[in-house]
Amino acid sequence: MNKQNKPRIFYDYDYPDLEILAEKYNWPKFRIKQLLEWQAKSIQSTSGMTNIPKDMRIVLEREMVWPALKIVKIERSKVEPVNKYLFELSDGNIIETVSMHYNYGHSVCLTTQVGCKMGCGFCASAKPGFKRNLTAGEMLAQITMISHMEQSHISHAVLMGIGEALDNYDQTIKFLNRLRSKFGFTMSMRNITLSTCGLVPQIKKLAKEHLPITLAISLHSADQAIRNMLMPISKHYPIEEIVQVADYYFAETGRRVTYEYTLFDRINDQPAHAEQLAKLLKGKPVHVNLIPANEVADSIWTGSAKDAINNFLLILNKNKINATIRYSAGQDITAACGQLRRQNIQNN
Ligand code: SF4
Repeated sequence: MNKQNKPRIFYDYDYPDLEILAEKYNWPKFRIKQLLEWQAKSIQSTSGMTNIPKDMRIVLEREMVWPALKIVKIERSKVEPVNKYLFELSDGNIIETVSMHYNYGHSVCLTTQVGCKMGCGFCASAKPGFKRNLTAGEMLAQITMISHMEQSHISHAVLMGIGEALDNYDQTIKFLNRLRSKFGFTMSMRNITLSTCGLVPQIKKLAKEHLPITLAISLHSADQAIRNMLMPISKHYPIEEIVQVADYYFAETGRRVTYEYTLFDRINDQPAHAEQLAKLLKGKPVHVNLIPANEVADSIWTGSAKDAINNFLLILNKNKINATIRYSAGQDITAACGQLRRQNIQNN
């Protein structure tokens, strides 16, 4: 048990934690490295740890919760190589993780919090409310469980599932550092995208970490009043501050910031909105992802028409803003982030 009295999973144990355990049970130092290697191999039970003696495996069983995640449900897309997982955490909370196979690699879109405090009006994740932060180990467990289930190496990670990753700052940074650790996963930071609704102080702090990850800021409007309506957090961090901190992030890390812009029918998808966005970002080394909105139950906003989306893109391109349209993966399954979890909560 840890300080919070919450049972810990195998993936919660990093090198210093395993060192403490090794000292407690008089295990030789090389065992720590072996256990970290098993983590990197995405092991989900002690029985597969062939080079670990039985008495040591018994201790691991006793000290930790196994399995790290229980699978509640898997939804498999029939049209693309995308699978959505509903996982149960050791305390019974439910989270959602998406596995996506692309020609450039295998990517996992993962959850960083149970629920979210940010309250964006269009988001299924926010509706059931916030419960708690995930540990770095629980983030790793999502990757390893999918790697284990699909017998595939995970090359990319996207922190874009349920939760605001920067609202769980310390655990998110710990997770990123463990992903690139020489003892374990050795994932390239360039293959990681972290999405935020625009928490300015945390973005500043993140820039100072000098991790070469891609930062994706959910902007959704260049108009302060519209953004306030879509995302309540916007009242705390005005658009000018967000653009300033994005420039700062680029200056510190050399990584071009991505702006996420979800298009809602006649709310933020008109030509005047595109012109306003182009003016805001003109000459900046940024990329804009235009995202057609998914339908979310109880949301008063609906997705934009195809023509409006294409026209929006045209206006950005005419103004020399790098932009692409990005469709959410798994359109034939519950595509919107947090939708599957919400469905599960409503059914129980
Ligand atoms: S969009 Fe992201 S930040 Fe906003 S409520 Fe949903 S999970 Fe939270």
